[in-house]
Amino acid sequence: MLQEGTDMMIKGRIHSFESFGTVDGPGIRFVVFMQGCLFRCLYCHNPDTWDIKGGMEYSAEEVLERIRKYLPYIKRSGGGVTVSGGEPLLQVDFLTGLFTLCQREGIHTAIDTSGFPLYRTHPQFGENKPDHANNLSLKQNNRKIDRLLDHTDLVLLDIKHMCPEFHQKLTRFPNEEPLRFARILQDKGIPMWLRYVVVPGVTDDLDGLRKLKDFIRSHSNIEKVELLPFHKMGEYKWKELQYDFSLGNVPEASEEDIKRVEKILGIES
Ligand code: SF4
Repeated sequence: MLQEGTDMMIKGRIHSFESFGTVDGPGIRFVVFMQGCLFRCLYCHNPDTWDIKGGMEYSAEEVLERIRKYLPYIKRSGGGVTVSGGEPLLQVDFLTGLFTLCQREGIHTAIDTSGFPLYRTHPQFGENKPDHANNLSLKQNNRKIDRLLDHTDLVLLDIKHMCPEFHQKLTRFPNEEPLRFARILQDKGIPMWLRYVVVPGVTDDLDGLRKLKDFIRSHSNIEKVELLPFHKMGEYKWKELQYDFSLGNVPEASEEDIKRVEKILGIES
């Protein structure tokens, strides 16, 4: 109980809110875009969420106050609240506080994540190491994740690539953490929607997709697989932030590209 109170005092760094989201979970969603991400996905359309020290600080109660205005629509639609990003798991304590409050009011809770918790020290944090990154043991990390998942109804897990070396090239981190997170969800029986961005010539190789198919088959908690076609709508943000967008010459994913991947995964509609 004391711990719960502490979670609710912790402020979250938030990039922005969306009050009528329709693609991040069931029904109408109030979407909270958390600030901060350690990945650097080559296709990211929100590089403005990367800076861990950016955004604005809000308490869980302040966010809930915003959600309450839309509750009649949200509940009537079978919706809820989704925290997205950025990488929401970097702010696990804030999320636990927010979701605890939400569930008390009967609000469905979902996390849209790449499955990369903060509470592991990692050399690649480098200068970008967040203030609250620390040396907690794996056991302590797991306890924090456990407490968050106790208040989580659904996880939308973005798998970037099944091959560690491709994952590293794509995001600058190997995929060991996301896959470990997926196993935790499986063990706890938490419903998962799997998301995968199809980038022609980058994430649609046969080997990676076959491994993804095996992954889907081995996780009985996956309720839905969503293939997201690569697009370049966020390219202008890379330019504004003076980052080098290396996929400028890669074509956007066509309907045929998606159909081909669906076929390999055995999920044709
Ligand atoms: S995990 Fe999401 S926010 Fe982070 S770099 Fe990748 S696409 Fe962007």
